[in-house]
Amino acid sequence: MPQCKKCGKKGLFLKIEDDTGLCLSCNGSFAQEGKVLTQKITEAKNKAVIAKDPGKIAESCKAVVQYGNELIALHQAYNLQPSQVLLDLIETCKKKQELAEK
Ligand SMILES: [Zn+2]
Repeated sequence: MPQCKKCGKKGLFLKIEDDTGLCLSCNGSFAQEGKVLTQKITEAKNKAVIAKDPGKIAESCKAVVQYGNELIALHQAYNLQPSQVLLDLIETCKKKQELAEK
């Protein structure tokens, strides 16, 4: 019987999203919150790319790491696995931040 990974709702006719294993309502709230964080991450990442000043680079990378960790926490709250792309991005930005702060 299909069961939602987040709220535990189950039923023969419950529709579960294949890629997340969440019911439509949980999947909707996850997508909504995830979208906001993803936008913030993208904005901070773009700022880090165009920044010339090491202080600005460090600041933007720090923001990427912070929002990235929030996105990971969101995944965990919904019993989902964060993507490798996200984990790699956070690692890269941590290193960039350290370099820029030197
Ligand atoms: Zn649910």
